[in-house]
Amino acid sequence: MLNRLWQAVNICTARRAFALVYAGHAQVVSSDEANNFLTHDFESWRDFSTAAPEHEMVTTISWKIRVPRVILLLFFDRLPKKEVKFTRHNVFERDKNTCQYCGQIFERSDLNLDHVVPRDRGGMTTWENVVCSCIACNTRKGNRLPQEAHMSLIRKPKRPKWRPFVHVTFSAPQHVGRVGALRRPDAAARRPYLTVVDVAATRPRVGSNAFRIGCG
Ligand SMILES: [Zn+2]
Repeated sequence: MLNRLWQAVNICTARRAFALVYAGHAQVVSSDEANNFLTHDFESWRDFSTAAPEHEMVTTISWKIRVPRVILLLFFDRLPKKEVKFTRHNVFERDKNTCQYCGQIFERSDLNLDHVVPRDRGGMTTWENVVCSCIACNTRKGNRLPQEAHMSLIRKPKRPKWRPFVHVTFSAPQHVGRVGALRRPDAAARRPYLTVVDVAATRPRVGSNAFRIGCG
């Protein structure tokens, strides 16, 4: 989901994307061969889907429609909060479920959070001092500094650069006239956001129909 200023702010399910577009809260963003970005309201997107079908389609009794990958929120201009909250989940996200000592990827259930400098030696519970660690490495390190255990981190832990997603809510439905396929002139200005979207789309999916948009 992009906000009104074409900045990536959130992820949503395909169902929610359709609902937002159908209600006129959002438009679908597509790009043509010349890399111009087009926006579509529901009818325009349905026509576009008929003209240019792809494998991910939703079928109804009378027509098929493409699943939108990027939608533009028409009345929302906030940005996600700048700080990523320090949570267990977010440390796993930052470290990509990878033990920061042996470099192997594990299921989250097989990972611990390790204080690089142990707590009883003044180590803080911060982005800079907490990393993912597999149980074997965690046990081996024990209550020691990495160098004391002859272990080293695969990378220096720091606060992640990505932003948390914002929760987008709309109070009352607002009517929007049909805009059709608008071509925005300042394509260069918003391309960075869409590039971010493309990169983030390769991250693991959330649920079957969900897609993620990273930012920051
Ligand atoms: Zn390990």
